[in-house]
Amino acid sequence: MPKHLNPNRNNQLRKELSTQTYVEGILNGDRGILARAITLVESRKPQNRKQAEEIIERCLPHSGNSFRLGITGVPGVGKSSFIETFGIQLINSGHHIAVLAIDPSSEKSRGSILGDKTRMEKLAANENAFIRPSPASDALGGVARKTRESIILCEAAGYDYIIVETVGVGQSEIAVHSMVDFFLLLLLPGAGDELQGIKRGIVEMADMIAINKADGDKLNAAKKAKIEYKNALHLYPPNEKGWDVPVNLCSALHSKGITEIIEVLDHYLRSMKENLQFDQLREKQNQYWLIESLNESLQFDFFNHPEIVKRLKKYKADVSLGSMSPFKAAEELIKIFKN
Ligand code: GDP
Repeated sequence: MPKHLNPNRNNQLRKELSTQTYVEGILNGDRGILARAITLVESRKPQNRKQAEEIIERCLPHSGNSFRLGITGVPGVGKSSFIETFGIQLINSGHHIAVLAIDPSSEKSRGSILGDKTRMEKLAANENAFIRPSPASDALGGVARKTRESIILCEAAGYDYIIVETVGVGQSEIAVHSMVDFFLLLLLPGAGDELQGIKRGIVEMADMIAINKADGDKLNAAKKAKIEYKNALHLYPPNEKGWDVPVNLCSALHSKGITEIIEVLDHYLRSMKENLQFDQLREKQNQYWLIESLNESLQFDFFNHPEIVKRLKKYKADVSLGSMSPFKAAEELIKIFKN
C-alpha cells in the first residue's frame, strides 16, 4: 500500500508532533505529515481536536487556491475508474490532485468506498496525488466537517484539484454540494430507470452529468440516455449559478470523453472567475460551514455535558413511562445546559 494511504489511519497516533512540525510539513507538501494531520482532524480526543484546530487555523491563509470538485454516483457507476483516468490526465497537465471520500454508509456496507484497496492504484502510486478514504464509523455531520477541514489541509499542502467523492445514495451529497465549486454526477447508460433511481435533489444539484461506460455494446444506450437526460433537465429549475448543465458521454475504462469533461470544467472555472461568481461561491461555502460548525459544536457540548448525560438518561425513562412529556424534558435539559 502506498505510504500516503496512511495505513495507521485507525491506529493510535504515533509519536506526537508539535503543531509547528505539522504546519511546516504540510506547507512543504509532505504527504506523510498531511496524512497524520488528517488523522488528527479525524480524532475524537479533545487534545487532538485542539491541536487539529490550531493546525487548520495556521493552514487557512495558505488554502483556497484550488478547484473543489464533487463527484457522485451509485456504487458501480465507475467513480474510482473515472477519478483514476481523469486524475492522471490532470496530473499530466501539471495539477496536484487530492481525493477525499465521504462514505457515511461505510460501516454498514463494509465500506463501498474504503473497502476495496485496489481502487485508483495508478493514482495512489503517483507522487502528485494524495488519496484519503473517509473516516469510517462516523455520523455524516462529523465526516462532512472532517472532509471540509481536510480540504483546507490539502490545499495548504499544494493540491490544486480537490476531488470529494461520495456514493450517490442521498444525504451525503447535500453536505458535499456545500463544500465544492462544481458537482459532477456520474450516471450509467440507460436512462428511464436510473433517472428514477437517482434522487431528484441530486440531479438538481449537478453542474454536469457524465454518462460513463459509453463504450462497446453500451454506447448506443449511452447516446440515447444523453438525449433523455438533456430533455429531463429541462423539467428542472435552472441551475442556481445560471450555468447550463451539460450532459456528456465518457468511458473511464477507455479514456474517452475525459478531455472534453476537463474542458467543461476549465470553461466553468474561467467563466465563474470572470463574472466574479467564484468568490461568491466560496463565500457561500464559508457561511454554510460557519453555521454547520456552530450546530455541531453546540450539539457536541450539549450531549457531552456531564449533568445532561445524567439527566437525559432519566428523562428518557420518564418520557417512555409517560410521566413527562418530551417537550418538557427538552425544555428542562436546555435550562440545565444554559446554567
Ligand atoms: P465505483 O463503485 O463507482 O467506484 O465503480 P468502479 O470504478 O469500481 O467501477 C465498477 C465497474 O465498472 C468495474 O468493473 C469497472 O472496471 C467498470 N467500469 C468503470 N468504468 C467503465 C467504463 O467506462 N466502461 C466500462 N465498460 N466499464 C467500466
